[in-house]
Amino acid sequence: MAKYNGPVCRLCRREGMKLYLKGEKCYSSKCIFEKRPYPPGKSSDRSRRAKASDYGIRLREKQKARRIYGIMEKQFKRYFDMASREKGLTGENLLRLLERRLDNVIYRLGFASSRREARQLVSHGHFMVNGRSTNIPSYLVKVGDVIKVKDRSKEVEPIQRGLSYEKSVPAWLELDEESLSGRVLDLPKREDIDVNINEQMIVEFYSR
Ligand code: SF4
Repeated sequence: MAKYNGPVCRLCRREGMKLYLKGEKCYSSKCIFEKRPYPPGKSSDRSRRAKASDYGIRLREKQKARRIYGIMEKQFKRYFDMASREKGLTGENLLRLLERRLDNVIYRLGFASSRREARQLVSHGHFMVNGRSTNIPSYLVKVGDVIKVKDRSKEVEPIQRGLSYEKSVPAWLELDEESLSGRVLDLPKREDIDVNINEQMIVEFYSR
């Protein structure tokens, strides 16, 4: 399973916005982007970016989406191809597929403080889907799926930490805090997906 192992905060600086990749730190004064909101390799007095081309703007939008969901290029393109084969708007289909990933669902339910952490927790086998142990972060949840923290994992520190944060679970998911489980009520609609991404630009990037 390929994944990015480089410095994470650098990605926010590269994209010129907070991508919230490190959980708690992102909301604290320790956030690197708050201190250095300019691209890596440039000093603050040279922070003004050269005017980006149309291609560059669309490329950055695609990269931003990839980085928010923590997906490598090849797999991201595979999601795009799946999205373009589905009925409806390709950009929305793409975001819906990304949201349905099990690691994202774990994050959305509040069992982890970032998607990155959720991915690790899933890989380490802390969850069940429909009663079966599942350690595949890219598993795409379906309507009716029940995702549950394993009994032996209920006290795991990152899960407890994730649960301690105030969360707003999206309308397409339902959380049962008592049993530490969640249910997929519906597929996410665009308005349920609170990521700052212009998906149409991603469509234009791949259609060029
Ligand atoms: Fe980005 Fe979070 Fe690092 Fe801030 S702390 S730069 S939001 S990953």
